[in-house]
Amino acid sequence: MLTFFGRGSAFTDHHNSAYFEDGKDLVIIDFSMTSFQLLNDFDLASYDHIYILITHTHGDHVSGLGMIIDLLEFSVQTPITIIAPSDRVKDDIRYLLREVEGCEDSWYELICCCELDKPWFNAVIPTSHTEELAGKCFGFHLTIDGKSVVYTGDTNTLAPYEEYLTDGCYLYTEVSAYNSPVHLYYVNILEDIKRYEARGIHVFLMHMDDEAKILKGLEGTYALPAPLRVDFKDDSEMLGRIYEIADSLYRDMCMDGSTDHNMLFSYVTQLGKIIAGADRASFWKWDRRKRELWTMSATGVDKIVIPDDSGLVGKALKDRKPLITNDPYSDPAFNREVDIKTGYKTKSILVLPVADINGRTIGALQLINKNDEKGFDPKTDPHKLSLAALVCGIALESETFLEDSHHDKLTGLKNRMGFYHDFQTVFKPYTGKDSDKVMSVFICDIDKFKRVNDTYGHNAGDDVLAFTAGLLESCCGANENIYRWGGEEFVMVMAESDLKSCVAKAEEIRVKLMGSDIEADGNTIKCTLSFGCTLYDPAKSIEENISTADGWLYKAKETGRNRVCFE
Ligand code: GH3
Ligand code: MG
Ligand code: MG
Repeated sequence: MLTFFGRGSAFTDHHNSAYFEDGKDLVIIDFSMTSFQLLNDFDLASYDHIYILITHTHGDHVSGLGMIIDLLEFSVQTPITIIAPSDRVKDDIRYLLREVEGCEDSWYELICCCELDKPWFNAVIPTSHTEELAGKCFGFHLTIDGKSVVYTGDTNTLAPYEEYLTDGCYLYTEVSAYNSPVHLYYVNILEDIKRYEARGIHVFLMHMDDEAKILKGLEGTYALPAPLRVDFKDDSEMLGRIYEIADSLYRDMCMDGSTDHNMLFSYVTQLGKIIAGADRASFWKWDRRKRELWTMSATGVDKIVIPDDSGLVGKALKDRKPLITNDPYSDPAFNREVDIKTGYKTKSILVLPVADINGRTIGALQLINKNDEKGFDPKTDPHKLSLAALVCGIALESETFLEDSHHDKLTGLKNRMGFYHDFQTVFKPYTGKDSDKVMSVFICDIDKFKRVNDTYGHNAGDDVLAFTAGLLESCCGANENIYRWGGEEFVMVMAESDLKSCVAKAEEIRVKLMGSDIEADGNTIKCTLSFGCTLYDPAKSIEENISTADGWLYKAKETGRNRVCFE
């Protein structure tokens, strides 16, 4: 498949350009100076022939041609053919190259697509882009590794490519973060991408001007960023990239006040990918309670949840040791479902499990497809990746601590810390005097609960609390949350609910609990609840609102218990 030297637009550090190998041919699509700079670690002499397909003559698509012709003429001597998409563009390229001093016509072959006879080439597709390139801008239909590939080049429409898009084919499309008449605005092509997805078309995004914005905007689709070449010229270049990522990570996490831990996972997996020279990286969290593994961050794939007894990550976690395979298909533990679904071929895998402070494995860093024929090295690769894995482990553990501190151990409900956290996040729009949204809350308290403890013992009391919490939780709707406020008191917050529905919900729960036989430490116990309900007044503080509800709860207690009171 195609690998990209760069997937950026003209105003980025790595201009869009891709390549593939067909036997001993190296075929490159467009070639700027930034691509030329990445050519050092190619063994160009090992190819029989180099072909460069040109989509159009903007500088970021042709500026490296003179340099590669020079290089091949003077040092490598592999023949090169430049393929223009039309006779007119062929004339333009000839003109351009003749203006480059030290680039003789005889040092390269220049042909038009119509003269090309190669099994990987099917068709040239005329398209529209900037006005000055009218009639001089093209995409291609190719066959790579037996797959049908459509490459748009720069375009402001997908229409000319539609007829080449067969079910299950590979589409490499340009996309822009900005609405302009010369590129494909990501908002406008979202529907097309969803349509293609439904037909099993693999969509890759390229020529991006603001990658982060585009990837965020297309989140939830199966469209992936075009895969980049991850080799570096030398260690210092790699170190440069590592520093870059570390710097962004530091700025986002420490300077901009972000509370999004997932950002850390995405940066550090990216780092792992660079350090080990792998095509994909992901960090998996082991949810022991649910017996699931799920990705905290993955490059190149969507968030995935799998059973913890499946796949090589599951195996490494259970074995508590690093796992490497350079032939995954022959390993019975390998889960090939993801490959089948995505059309991606996994050739090598490395998994590094990480443990918490008590030595329990809690997650794993996984890398896929080492950019080297020999695959991952069992000695050097885990060695290089250890720090990245460790950082992910510590972040995961601290996130788990934070999550735990928001929950009550006995009932599993969120506690008062969880309550205040939710009021700073999900319920924030419902608070503050400017809010025009509707929300209601109730507070409830188990009646004569002290008597349960006194009669049946504290363990029975605990069981009653857990039962009541479970009942309350099972009655929560989509915009509703229940909290253990303290002892035997619970608070429910109901966003988008008026007082009437709040009272109805309280009444429903009251009747349910009254009718329940609670199995508690060998006894069967009956319990009731009293409720105080109020419409949330956004002009008042959280505490004032709870206090209003508490006033009505007091009233319920005063007037006989096992009842719902409200204004
Ligand atoms: P009322 O109907 O007026 O609410 O009477 P009550 O007995 O429920 O109220 P009171 O506040 O006098 O007693 C509450 C009891 O709840 C006292 C406390 O020991 C018990 N309690 C608080 N937390 C827990 C807990 O986690 N487990 C158990 N078993 N008991 C608890
Ligand atoms: Mg009570
Ligand atoms: Mg109480």
